[in-house]
Amino acid sequence: MSPPARSRPAPAAAHEPAVPTELAPPAGLFWRTKTLAAMTGAEWESLCDGCGRCCLVKLEDEDSGAIAYTDVACRLFDAGSCRCSDYPNRSEIVADCVRLTPEAVESIGWLPPTCAYRLVREGKDLPFWHPLVSGTRDTVVSAGISVHGRVAGLETEFGLFELVDHIVNWPTRWPRGAKGTQTGTQAPAKRARTRPKPGA
Ligand code: SF4
Ligand code: SF4
Repeated sequence: MSPPARSRPAPAAAHEPAVPTELAPPAGLFWRTKTLAAMTGAEWESLCDGCGRCCLVKLEDEDSGAIAYTDVACRLFDAGSCRCSDYPNRSEIVADCVRLTPEAVESIGWLPPTCAYRLVREGKDLPFWHPLVSGTRDTVVSAGISVHGRVAGLETEFGLFELVDHIVNWPTRWPRGAKGTQTGTQAPAKRARTRPKPGA
């Protein structure tokens, strides 16, 4: 297993919410009609649901190239807010933090299946729990998408072999009942975690 791969859509500043409060919400169902590359900066940024899954440490099998997620987070991850604790300086501190761009989304094979950038790239609609659909980030937690409450610790607390013991599958899966879109094809879950270079 080799060192972690990671990414995060690049916000303009640390602690920036998934749906920036300083920006007017993008109008309309733009994700249905625009490509990632055609989106404005505000539209691109608003796609990130703040789930934090992409900030989990990932291990790559040196032989097969397979990527495995762990429930251990990047050293800069704030497990309370599910945001990067030093976004402006992240590249200096975490050299392999990948900046998400439309081009990167095309080439990265390990984005979580629930990630809005991946969904849009695949021509899919946003699910009911996405903040652009629900109007609140709370649904990212209630639908079981966020890593909130599921992070075992930061990578600085674990050695490489200990990381292997923290390999988990849930970041690569959809929680039960979380696949529905705003068209209501599936019921919401019962129970109650690189920023974008603006495309245009
Ligand atoms: S996995 Fe996608 S939606 Fe979730 S925090 Fe990362 S970039 Fe944002
Ligand atoms: S440096 Fe920040 S944005 Fe990058 S993976 Fe770590 S916590 Fe996430």
